[in-house]
Amino acid sequence: MAKDRFGRNIHYLRISLTDHCNLRCVYCMPEDITFRPNAELMQDDEILTLTQLFATLGFDKIRLTGGEPTIRKNVVEIVRGISETEGIKSVSMTTNGLLLSQLAQPLADAGLERVNISIDTLEPEKFKRLTRWGKVNEVIEGIDAAEKAGLTPIKLNAVIMTGYNESDVVPLAGLTQENPWQVRFIEMMPFAGVTEFQLSQMVTAAQIQEKIENDYGALEVVNNGKLDGEARLFKIKNGTGDIGFISSVTSPFCSSCTRARLTSDGILRLCLLREKEIDLLTPLRAGASLEELRGLILESVWEKPWGHGLEKGTIALNRTMSEIGG
Ligand code: SAM
Ligand code: SF4
Repeated sequence: MAKDRFGRNIHYLRISLTDHCNLRCVYCMPEDITFRPNAELMQDDEILTLTQLFATLGFDKIRLTGGEPTIRKNVVEIVRGISETEGIKSVSMTTNGLLLSQLAQPLADAGLERVNISIDTLEPEKFKRLTRWGKVNEVIEGIDAAEKAGLTPIKLNAVIMTGYNESDVVPLAGLTQENPWQVRFIEMMPFAGVTEFQLSQMVTAAQIQEKIENDYGALEVVNNGKLDGEARLFKIKNGTGDIGFISSVTSPFCSSCTRARLTSDGILRLCLLREKEIDLLTPLRAGASLEELRGLILESVWEKPWGHGLEKGTIALNRTMSEIGG
């Protein structure tokens, strides 16, 4: 079992399948971003070898992300390989949903349990401006396909920015009235690439909650206020689904963080918002033994930082969000 020096049991691994993406969301990456050449990314067998290694250390929960994980060649086979790995109990994915209308069923058949789908507005023109060219109807079709394929409960992720989609808070929250979905509002965090935008256009969870309550009345606390992963959950009175707030900036959940991240170029990162990284792919390619790699992972996990330094103005600037894996 991988424990850190604060006693946290680290067993949840987010694996980025690629830093490439078929959108360019304004809050995530610059339009002219350069992606890594494929040869620098973990190859399919390397992803599976590292997953097996993590599984032997007690990692049992995997989330695939990116970049956009669904554009990774062989994504269905990779999901199958991971879900069949001994010790892995759940495999989920965070996706922009564009390709789910074709991929939801094959992914579910390969062992994917659930998806989180990002959708920051329901309006076609705004979606296009926000993602630089995306078509929101394709995401909506993707949500439908995910539901039909049983990739449930569906969670929708939204990032709210001033000047872009503040007026979408209420319609997005309103989706939970009729649908058994969890609509989660994620506070925008600063990284490299579009840092100034991320700092200046950020809307807090409290501001978002106020907007929802102005329309729907006081939200009801779900779960007695206990976190669901990283989200604090609420409900609109008589609503079917839940509304979640992920307030990583204003109210971080570091004390209950059990996760580590493996970037698409095979780097282990113990905190999304700290620059420190440990390269696993180079030693793997250089022939390091599994025992040596296990030692490297355990040492790194032990040193997992307690929390981020945003309140002190420390911003992790060595990668964009898409290069880390959200
Ligand atoms: N492409 C997939 C997607 O969009 O769902 C997966 C990768 S994306 C980096 C993962 C999540 O991070 C998305 O829900 C996205 O909205 C969110 N995200 C991206 N940049 C962010 C930022 N600066 N702050 C907070 N969340 C961000
Ligand atoms: Fe791509 Fe996801 Fe980043 Fe949007 S948030 S640019 S879909 S990686």
